[in-house]
Amino acid sequence: MPLPDMHSAEPIPDSARIEIERLLQSGDLFRYTASSDAPVSLLEAEFARMMGSTYALAVSSCSAALFLSLLSLDLPRNAKVMIPGFTFAAVPSAVVHANCTPILCEVGENYRIDLADFAAKLPSVDAVIISHMRGHTSDMDAIMTLCNAKDIPVIEDAAHSLGTLWHDQKIGTIGQIGCFSFQSYKMINAGEGGILITDDENLVARAIIMSGAYEHNWKKHPGVSQACMQWQNKLPLYNLRMNNLSAALARSQLPELPRRVADGLRNHDLVAARLGASPYIVVPPALAPETRAPDSIQFNLINLDEKTIKSFADACAAAGVKVQVFGLSTDNARAFWNWEFIEPQQELPKTRKMLMSACDLRLPVQLKRDDLEAIADVVLGALNSVTKAVAA
Ligand SMILES: *Cc1c(COP(=O)(O)O)cnc(C)c1O
Repeated sequence: MPLPDMHSAEPIPDSARIEIERLLQSGDLFRYTASSDAPVSLLEAEFARMMGSTYALAVSSCSAALFLSLLSLDLPRNAKVMIPGFTFAAVPSAVVHANCTPILCEVGENYRIDLADFAAKLPSVDAVIISHMRGHTSDMDAIMTLCNAKDIPVIEDAAHSLGTLWHDQKIGTIGQIGCFSFQSYKMINAGEGGILITDDENLVARAIIMSGAYEHNWKKHPGVSQACMQWQNKLPLYNLRMNNLSAALARSQLPELPRRVADGLRNHDLVAARLGASPYIVVPPALAPETRAPDSIQFNLINLDEKTIKSFADACAAAGVKVQVFGLSTDNARAFWNWEFIEPQQELPKTRKMLMSACDLRLPVQLKRDDLEAIADVVLGALNSVTKAVAA
């Protein structure tokens, strides 16, 4: 069975081609040129409606959305922001960029926030970013109860979680602000791009102005005039806007989202069932309130030493399937010890232990049953060969 292409995304829908041709003809690429209905504005309206949130602001990346979210909270300089110890390097980077100090929280074997460590560190922080890393949702009931009791704002980094539900509520709508990515490896692929959503007029007004709505361009954002007038000329302009071509790409894919989410979950569960049958693999299950929207699978190797885990990853690669062990692949951007730019450096023994045996395998949503079986065969075959070698 030949292996599928595990890196390319789905083709862009034809509706985008027509719209992009129109934009190329008119040269109308800047979001604030048209007097109304610019593709970026339409994307914001459609995304907000889809998520059931009051406001949306489209920007150049999810990293930009996280940065603007932190600035919108108007935190004091050097404010402490708690983030998970298992996330993408863009998250501590956004905190540093916003002149804040990242405080790392332990993450458990199931890739979710360790609530004991979270509760212990919460009294010393000014804000929290929860990364739903690879779409794994932390216990948002417990987190919101703890944070609401102390009036600590929560930003949801839902970059890779679009379509996930928590008690039937859309992920990204639980905290004060939710941030999503349209980078090519995420559910909606605009190459690059991001969007933030919130119900708070003051927060979105600050983010709109700082995203680069200079002079009176904020008038092209509905429902925010009061707050924007108050912040006019009071905030720096960082120019993190989205352009109309990116918006056209993202808009064309919004109708595809429910199908992509359903296919991704079906694919994930098929591979999880096959891998989970091995005595050396644990696939952490979803939490009870969580309905996942995965386009990859994570699993832990158990009862194997580091050398065998390395041989396993090498054997998968040799057979054509890239399995990354987060803590063992060189310079992995999701291993907290590689975030040498943060001050102070922090040690997280539980998270470190998890990262040393946690594996990451992409499962693009367009893969078919035969593709998935072939991938599972390679992973289980590689595991079989390295564990036999150990036993011998
Ligand atoms: C992809 C990702 C980001 C960064 O998104 P960009 O749009 O590339 O800036 C942040 N956090 C998580 C969890 C991600 O998966």
